[in-house]
Amino acid sequence: GLRSSLWLQFKPHQIAAGAAYLAAKYLNMDLASCPNIWMEFQTPPFILEGIMLSNQFQNGIETAKLAWARLPSTEDGEGDEVVGVSGNNDGGRVESLDYEVVENHAYREEQALRGKLYVGYYVGVKWFFALLIGVGTGLAAVFINISVENFAGWKFSLTFSVIQKSYVAGFLLYILINLVLVFSSAFIITNFAPAAAGSGIPEIKGYLNGVDTHGILLFRTLIGKIFGSIGSVGGGLALGKEGPLVHTGACIASLLGQVTCGCAAGVAAAFRAPVGGVLFALEEVTSWWRSQLMWRVFFTSAIVAVVVRTAMGWCKSGKCGHFGSGGFIIWDISGGQEDYSFEELLPMAVIGVIGGLLGALFNQLTRYITYWRRNYLHKKGNRFKIIEVCLISVITSVISFGLPLFRKCSPCPEADPNFPIECPRPPGMYGNYVNFYCGKDKEYNDLATIFFNTQDDAIRNLFSAKTIHEYSAQSLLTFLVMFYTLAVVTFGTAVPAGQFVPGIMIGSTYGRLVGMFVVSFYKKLNIEEGTYALLGAASFLGGSMRMTVSLCVIMVEITNNLKLLPLIMLVLLISKAVGDAFNEGLYEEQARLRGIPLLESRPKYEMRKMQAKEACGNQKVVYFPRVIKVADVVSSLKSNNHNGFPVIDHTRSGETLVIGLVLRSHLLVLLQSKVDFQHSPLPCDTGGGSLPIRHNFSEFVKPASSKGISIHDIHLGPDDLEMYIDLAPFVNRSPYIVPEDMSLTKGLYVPSEEMIPFAQVYNLFRQLGLRHIFVVPRASRVIGMITRKDLLIEETEDPATVELQSTSV
Ligand code: ATP
Ligand code: MG
Repeated sequence: GLRSSLWLQFKPHQIAAGAAYLAAKYLNMDLASCPNIWMEFQTPPFILEGIMLSNQFQNGIETAKLAWARLPSTEDGEGDEVVGVSGNNDGGRVESLDYEVVENHAYREEQALRGKLYVGYYVGVKWFFALLIGVGTGLAAVFINISVENFAGWKFSLTFSVIQKSYVAGFLLYILINLVLVFSSAFIITNFAPAAAGSGIPEIKGYLNGVDTHGILLFRTLIGKIFGSIGSVGGGLALGKEGPLVHTGACIASLLGQVTCGCAAGVAAAFRAPVGGVLFALEEVTSWWRSQLMWRVFFTSAIVAVVVRTAMGWCKSGKCGHFGSGGFIIWDISGGQEDYSFEELLPMAVIGVIGGLLGALFNQLTRYITYWRRNYLHKKGNRFKIIEVCLISVITSVISFGLPLFRKCSPCPEADPNFPIECPRPPGMYGNYVNFYCGKDKEYNDLATIFFNTQDDAIRNLFSAKTIHEYSAQSLLTFLVMFYTLAVVTFGTAVPAGQFVPGIMIGSTYGRLVGMFVVSFYKKLNIEEGTYALLGAASFLGGSMRMTVSLCVIMVEITNNLKLLPLIMLVLLISKAVGDAFNEGLYEEQARLRGIPLLESRPKYEMRKMQAKEACGNQKVVYFPRVIKVADVVSSLKSNNHNGFPVIDHTRSGETLVIGLVLRSHLLVLLQSKVDFQHSPLPCDTGGGSLPIRHNFSEFVKPASSKGISIHDIHLGPDDLEMYIDLAPFVNRSPYIVPEDMSLTKGLYVPSEEMIPFAQVYNLFRQLGLRHIFVVPRASRVIGMITRKDLLIEETEDPATVELQSTSV
């Protein structure tokens, strides 16, 4: 119904244009480089327009409009010259995103045509896309889970059946299967989608902070991520599929222009934790937030939950192979601890401290190793990356198959009639109480139960209640040391890798260890080791990733045990505090290593004394006069790498006047299309030519995460170079402007709060996702004053504009 009615409104050529647009996007082509799509189909189908608008408007961009208090000084008469351009300096590898609405002529024209209907339509499209993102991410998660569970299932049952005949053959087979899976993953990543390596969360975080890492949201990255993580997780490496799912969600969402929704959807799908997803997006990834977005993210997460549940229900009847009980981490601790006593708080606090210490150590070690990898190993080429992962795969297989061999088998515990257990598992089955090579029937191997299992099942075993003393302390300790080492070494290899599940594994192991001691210490209390395993998991994640609220909700959602909420909170607070004493969170560390200029929520202390003009360095500003010779534009663009330039005009009385900011990408569009070149050096409105309206707003919209064309791709003849171009219609007439002595960060006294280091220039960048700010001398005139009351627009005004302001924000 909905679909056909949407598409029926298109003419075939419009649908063709739509397909071409999407194809161009997938292939990372800049739209400007395939002008025929746009030139031939002047009016793109409205759905595409919606996509582009979402792209342009996504996330912070609308927030930008919220900052009303602009200095009026440059608008009128009195000239101001720009002292400097403040931008984040990064060595040229990563570029910032243009979140800000470029209010140029084309944009204003476009806005003027919009009515009330358009606003409704725009909002509708966004919600419709949010729905698609939810469905898409949910399905991707189901697909990944089914594949991983099936690969792992085949692997284990094949190995088990071969073990019955020959031990060595089983061993080799196991190594080989893992190696093939891991190799396929590394091959896909190195040859097809390099941006899909790792978890992707630092890059997404950077993206939503306003920094573009090349290729991070491409379609091929999406494909690489999905298939790569099937290989790496199915291949038994010490990594998880949850982080990659966040990236997968973001990639899907980026196609539809709403990356934030995608992040939340990814978490919601990975953990089946819809609320956790929303909070994750809020706490961890974005640097700005607003309530409308919250609603949409909430909606997407809910959709994901429904899709995943439906798919799981469908799979129940055995239609999905080995997928069924396992897969999709949700560790229902039914029969878990109902209550806790005061005495237990101490061991729980100890768990928090251990988590903080081990988490901080994890961050530090991975940081060193990543640094080394980047600068030595991975520089040598793809072959080394693949060999490295394959080597790690073999080591992992040897450890997880070999170590259990050194353990004695233990007799199965007495079964509690209320909680029947299956001990040992029938041969070929994995899960609790694995009978690895135990000769006798009623025996199981506890180390194999953790090592020789999918991670999801292993965690379920570690968390499980009513299985007191399933593991010996010796086994837990062996596993902890081995797995911690493997996780550190595996982190940062050229495969998609998440840190959630390894973190939960590590944490639940030492948690359970502590739990064992507590059980033997307070004999009378009703204590479950599984509870401590859960708290341990929370503490390690808190100590390494330093999330609190979202992690807490995720933990509660995946274990279905609300009673433990206060304990999880306590443990998280402690572990985060301990970890923060040593270093930064995992994602911040990694972002820094990757050269992503993330602006953290708390500016550095030294910034408090700095002013805007000190931040912008002492380079001379590169600017353009309003009417400029094409040759000069070209030579200027070639001589520097800046992406934004002030445009200066002169008033009749001869004073200079800043008329706005022009972006390099827009200049490139103008140079390439040539239609705005003119012969005379006069401004177009005073006889130089007619006002240019040949450009559609959409031409200036750069596809998300694309490098676009470069000045070196543009070839102009000598005649063209002699022409002039009037930049006035293309500048952003309201760039952000601050006076030179504005402080970078400044204290703000919020009543009932303590003095918080609120950032001025800093926060403009962070919260609005800005790219450029002009720094100007102190303003010389004040033409008006805005107060709070001026922002309350009366109903009597044109409802369309009011609506646009409030809904698009
Ligand atoms: P980003 O790199 O964030 O995408 P950008 O590429 O426009 O933005 P860069 O050129 O990389 O900014 O900024 C590097 C340094 O150059 C910054 O310190 C900034 O102050 C300075 N800078 C940026 N634009 C100009 C300009 N038009 N004139 C002079 N200096 C500039
Ligand atoms: Mg730059």
